[in-house]
Amino acid sequence: MKALVKSGDAPGFEYKDVDMPKIGPKDVLIKVKATSICGSDIHAYHSSPGILNMMKLPVILGHETCGEVVEVGESVTNLKKGDLVSPEPHVFCGECYYCQTGAALNCLNMELFGLSMNGAFAEYARVPALACWKHPPGTSYELGAIHEPLGVGMHGVMAGEINGKSVAVFGCGPIGMFAIGAARVFGATKIFGLEVAPNRIAMARQLFPDVTIINSKEQDPVRTIMDATDGLGVDVSIELSGNAEATRLCFQVLKREGRVSLVGVPSGPIEFDFHPNIILKEARVSGVFGRVVWQTWWQVRAMLDTGKFDPLPIITHRFPLSEFEQAFKLAESGEAGKILLIP
Ligand SMILES: [Zn+2]
Ligand SMILES: [Zn+2]
Repeated sequence: MKALVKSGDAPGFEYKDVDMPKIGPKDVLIKVKATSICGSDIHAYHSSPGILNMMKLPVILGHETCGEVVEVGESVTNLKKGDLVSPEPHVFCGECYYCQTGAALNCLNMELFGLSMNGAFAEYARVPALACWKHPPGTSYELGAIHEPLGVGMHGVMAGEINGKSVAVFGCGPIGMFAIGAARVFGATKIFGLEVAPNRIAMARQLFPDVTIINSKEQDPVRTIMDATDGLGVDVSIELSGNAEATRLCFQVLKREGRVSLVGVPSGPIEFDFHPNIILKEARVSGVFGRVVWQTWWQVRAMLDTGKFDPLPIITHRFPLSEFEQAFKLAESGEAGKILLIP
């Protein structure tokens, strides 16, 4: 089969023929329908040191995917041929301390689908059955392929109370827009989105006419948010950009006793003054790495079921897998929404 493979430390991927995956008794084989490009795939493309550490080379990339089960291991009881599934990329063991205490997201023996084990920029993929989320019949492949990244935005939003709260979302890329959509559905009141890329600003304004989308290059975000919140700031800040300045702004615009979800991955250490920003404010800070298994997946499902937020328009481009170079260039430009690769 054809796959995108990272074989060594050099930047880039190879599009080449590889052996079909072999499944074990607890696995399923999926025929990949669509896989979306994640920020971490871009880091992997460029061989960023942080992500190289997490990879076991050679490896097939791609983890935000949706596929149809075409083969079922002999011990698998929860899935059958024809089921439409997405893998939870934090492939957990089900047996360690964290798995036993409801925190499989932080499993001690975690494998990462598409980083430490082969993923889904390929025609087929092996997925352990315990890490499969089964979609309801009739789910579109495209919606299936973004269920996992929808969960990242969702986890940031649901890491504390959101109902009746004011929220600032830093970064209106796909995950930021997913977070805004989730915050609206789950009862946030005033919502602000901050972004600098013109296309994303235009898209966010069009999708969320009731949300204040701030162009942080042209408007002073602190003043805009303070003026709109009686000088108090927001109850919740969600950081998705990984940008150092945005991370500091998250706390500047935060109400006392507010909470911050840090989701975006910074490229290195950030200088940050804890005293005014966290201690004096009694701020609560949560790191967000992936999704709560399976709670976040159910929350995404519940959000979609309301019909109040359709994330599909956030998918702006589709490429055949063979045209990955073009797709990655576009993903990196910051001017697109979600991009799908179709094997
Ligand atoms: Zn991802
Ligand atoms: Zn575990």
